[in-house]
Amino acid sequence: MDYRSKSKNVLRPRPKISISAGHAAAALTNRDAAPRRPALMQAPVLVLNATFEPINVTAVRRALVLMLKGVAQAEETQTTEVHSTSKSVSVPSVIRLLSYRHIPQQSRALSRKNILLRDRNTCQFCGQMLSASDLTLDHVMPRSRGGRSSWENLVACCYQCNNRKGDRTQEEAGLTLARRPRPFTLHTSRQLMRLIGHKDEKWRKYLFY
Ligand SMILES: [Zn+2]
Repeated sequence: MDYRSKSKNVLRPRPKISISAGHAAAALTNRDAAPRRPALMQAPVLVLNATFEPINVTAVRRALVLMLKGVAQAEETQTTEVHSTSKSVSVPSVIRLLSYRHIPQQSRALSRKNILLRDRNTCQFCGQMLSASDLTLDHVMPRSRGGRSSWENLVACCYQCNNRKGDRTQEEAGLTLARRPRPFTLHTSRQLMRLIGHKDEKWRKYLFY
């Protein structure tokens, strides 16, 4: 995937199950679905495949839509409920798709945020762990030399190393990569899910803590 070709979408990490929201979404208007608790509706929900394999993280609002559409069911819930005009539903913490969905490898969006997560906010040249604002992305093979914006050619990099490297290769700049950059694997995805869900005990048994 090219980093530049779909910049708007790609820069916004949206791991997605592509199910259109449709009528169920319309049923979940702000008025119906706990308008005073926008944070609750955005809380993360772990999505399991029909086989119980963790495949994604979504928001409560979307999880409720999937449940209303009969696409998914709650496996774990919070104590909180949301009320629509006709019924109350416990807020899900973990949902499971009712039919198996094939998840292609490397489906996670290429984005700055995801690259920083993959590299654990660590400069891949000097090994410093920094806040996201103190990191940039480095093209291992510079763009001026035809380096692409891809999982394999982008790494988290501190500004100091980035300046030092400039338009050179790592060898030319006397820098060494900590490890070869790779696309998100299932393993990386699970790490990401753990990072997002570390506060929710109910996720644990599905993520093999
Ligand atoms: Zn560095």
